[in-house]
Amino acid sequence: MRLKDKVALVTGASSGIGKAIATRFAAEGAHVVVNYRPGGKIDTDAAQAEVAAFGPRALAVAADVSKRDDVQRMMDQVISEFGRIDIAINNAGIEIKKPFLEVGDDEWNRVIGVNLFGSYVVSQICARQMVKQGDGGKLIFISSVHEDIPFPDYTAYCASKGGVRMMMRNLSIELAPYRINVNNIAPGAIATPINQAVLDDPTASKNAIGEIPWGRFGRPEEVAAVAAFLASEDADYVTGSTYYVDGGLTQQVTLY
Ligand code: NAP
Repeated sequence: MRLKDKVALVTGASSGIGKAIATRFAAEGAHVVVNYRPGGKIDTDAAQAEVAAFGPRALAVAADVSKRDDVQRMMDQVISEFGRIDIAINNAGIEIKKPFLEVGDDEWNRVIGVNLFGSYVVSQICARQMVKQGDGGKLIFISSVHEDIPFPDYTAYCASKGGVRMMMRNLSIELAPYRINVNNIAPGAIATPINQAVLDDPTASKNAIGEIPWGRFGRPEEVAAVAAFLASEDADYVTGSTYYVDGGLTQQVTLY
């Protein structure tokens, strides 16, 4: 058990990669805080059922990560329940496909609001608490291969993930004196609901797989395995890095 009795917050843990990380962390002995979006894919009953499967010391908290008041309320609940926070996984994310010339301000702000502002506000509130505790911590961002690789029609998404990459690099320096490790995981094409349209379209799926040297989509559990390493003491000297979990996609794309 790599994370025994650690308190870990996973944002957007109702689905896909976040759910796989929450499940893996619970199996590694962590007390997991499952964050889900109010009015989102799952309701409170479903969130409670998810954490019930993790054992008695897990908590489900509804909060929209793009709203500071929601995030502060969530953290107050975490502290009142567990008294501390050790690990924060900034996973909640959305994308909107739209040619740049047609993107509206509301769409731009929604993507940046969840992916970049949300990651900023969750990590700031968690890092302040970790500094107060005085014994370090782990901040992990689920960015994307598109923190670096262009993706036409997804400019807000790429801008948000590129921003997360630079935020992570800065924080790895600023928070080093407090022994807070800060790293990114950059998934490639993982089979989750965010990719449902591609997964449901045999031609699009075949094209996507054709770009991946490993020859298949990744599984959420494969991202969770890297998160478990980065959240553990095994990664105490790892900070400021991006870990690609992409079956070689980045190398293939940058070959040309
Ligand atoms: P997903 O299944 O759609 O999961 C996204 C999660 O974020 C959902 O649980 C969603 O809840 C939650 N969420 C959205 N807005 C939120 C908000 N304002 N506050 C709190 N939670 C919110 O997709 P996924 O693939 O697991 O994505 C997880 C992360 O991985 C994202 O940051 C994504 O950019 C990144 N990523 C994924 C891939 C991939 O191929 N799958 C590749 C690169 C990066 P609701 O569904 O209820 O809205």
